[in-house]
Amino acid sequence: MSRASVVVVGGGISGLAAAWELSGGETGPNESTPRVEVIEASERFGGSLATTNFAGRTIDLGADGFLARRPEAVALVRELGLGEELEAIDSSGAWLWSRGDLHELPKGLVLGVPTDLQAILHFKGLSWKARLAARRDVLSPKRMLIGDDATVGEIVHTKLGRELSYQFIEPMIGGIQAGRIDELSAKSVFPALFDAAKKGGSLMKALRPPSPLNAGTKGDSATSDPVFYSLRGGAGSLPSELATRLQGRGVVLRHGVSVNALRRTPAGDYPWEVDTLTTTTPANAVILATPAPVVGALLGSLDPAIDELRQIESAGAAMVTFAVTDDKISLPPHGTGILVPLKTPWAGEGSMMVTAVTFLDRKWPHLRRDRDVLLRAHVGRSDDSRWLELTDEELTHRVRSELEILLPHFAEPSESLVQRWPLGLPQYVVGHEERVQRARGASAKFSVALAGNAYDGVGIPASIGSGRRAAREVLEMMSHEVRTD
Ligand SMILES: Cc1cc2nc3c(=O)[nH]c(=O)nc-3n(C[C@H](O)[C@H](O)[C@H](O)COP(=O)(O)OP(=O)(O)OC[C@H]3O[C@@H](n4cnc5c(N)ncnc54)[C@H](O)[C@@H]3O)c2cc1C
Repeated sequence: MSRASVVVVGGGISGLAAAWELSGGETGPNESTPRVEVIEASERFGGSLATTNFAGRTIDLGADGFLARRPEAVALVRELGLGEELEAIDSSGAWLWSRGDLHELPKGLVLGVPTDLQAILHFKGLSWKARLAARRDVLSPKRMLIGDDATVGEIVHTKLGRELSYQFIEPMIGGIQAGRIDELSAKSVFPALFDAAKKGGSLMKALRPPSPLNAGTKGDSATSDPVFYSLRGGAGSLPSELATRLQGRGVVLRHGVSVNALRRTPAGDYPWEVDTLTTTTPANAVILATPAPVVGALLGSLDPAIDELRQIESAGAAMVTFAVTDDKISLPPHGTGILVPLKTPWAGEGSMMVTAVTFLDRKWPHLRRDRDVLLRAHVGRSDDSRWLELTDEELTHRVRSELEILLPHFAEPSESLVQRWPLGLPQYVVGHEERVQRARGASAKFSVALAGNAYDGVGIPASIGSGRRAAREVLEMMSHEVRTD
């Protein structure tokens, strides 16, 4: 019998993780390992993970860290023998721009939702009315009826009021997803919030970390363990390391070629043919690790549930990074950055475009140097694409003007760099989970598995987990095919 063959379409971190699992995962290939081919449309592997040289360092251009408490990314790093390269994020807190000033975020936040009543009551970045809304949630929580899903906004707005929701919680949750809390599905992006709201009672009490030992640290951190990790060579070094190791295992890696059709071939050893402009690869199973709309375009004609994936929209974002000598800027005494609520007024027309500022070389120790600092300003949300209309020069100028308001003495950066991510992050709107389940069920009937940030969570760990899960699914499907032959 011919050797089994699996094609992975898309060489972002989820596609590469799928190929790692298909080629034996931690233990490596054996006699039953299929032939694996990864086909990536762009000129490099890694998708939203990439590095570049800037101001004498290697910096990340996209994602720059991964959640420590989700196991998938840390496990993969260790399997690759890169455990020594893990670097913990600085945990000295963060700031919120509110009421025309910087305010240090209080302790006890869980994805932006306060859980420590005393801390939020003393937080001067909110009006007394907003702080009393938090008190009311603890003492006399509002009732609400929740169906199969709800937006994050509906829940926090009802339970905690408008100001806390939009000036405080949205900058954090919305920042991670590049979306709006009034659109995002609580069940998909914040299941603990959804469960708490469904249970009824106080949201703040329900989200409180279980043990008193866990209280007392800053920001979202509930314990003294690192919340995020990166790698000393940047999070973007992970796909390059992975690609090198996959090559060593005999995985075929192709980049700069787009998959433009998948054809079913019911007769013969291989049920699928995967086409690029110049090649056809036969396959027993296919893993689609591309953005969801690409899956809809390639396979939508097979089943309406797959076609529906075209409707998963993405929010674009851009980041402008600056190097500034330390005599030309003054930063808050500690902390890794500033969150800026949407619709924040500024000196010019319209609202501020900057949604967050990261003090990159505070956040990641490997980027620290004497004499200069690295700042990164983030712009863009699902409903704010003003950055798309500006040239790099105009965007840099606009962001600089806003930074001059947010940070005292900011002037004359020595270097700057604009990075745009037009496809950015998929938006998990209400009903997302069911949509994904339907599409997965329909694809599995054709020996196709779906992987990537559109399905199981947008972060790096979720994307890695999704790739490995898809690989296990197709290995399982193929083992049944062999048994029934
Ligand atoms: C600006 C930004 C910052 C982020 N920051 C963080 C962070 O700090 N921490 C975190 O955990 N997550 C972060 N994320 C999210 C995380 O980086 C991504 O969710 C994750 O990397 C997605 O991986 P993926 O493989 O699913 O998708 P992608 O990286 O999008 O990869 C999909 C690949 O498919 C390829 N492709 C598309 N069509 C075809 C085709 N027809 N044929 C072949 N190939 C095709 C694309 O070229 C692409 O390389 C960030 C994302 C962005 C955009």
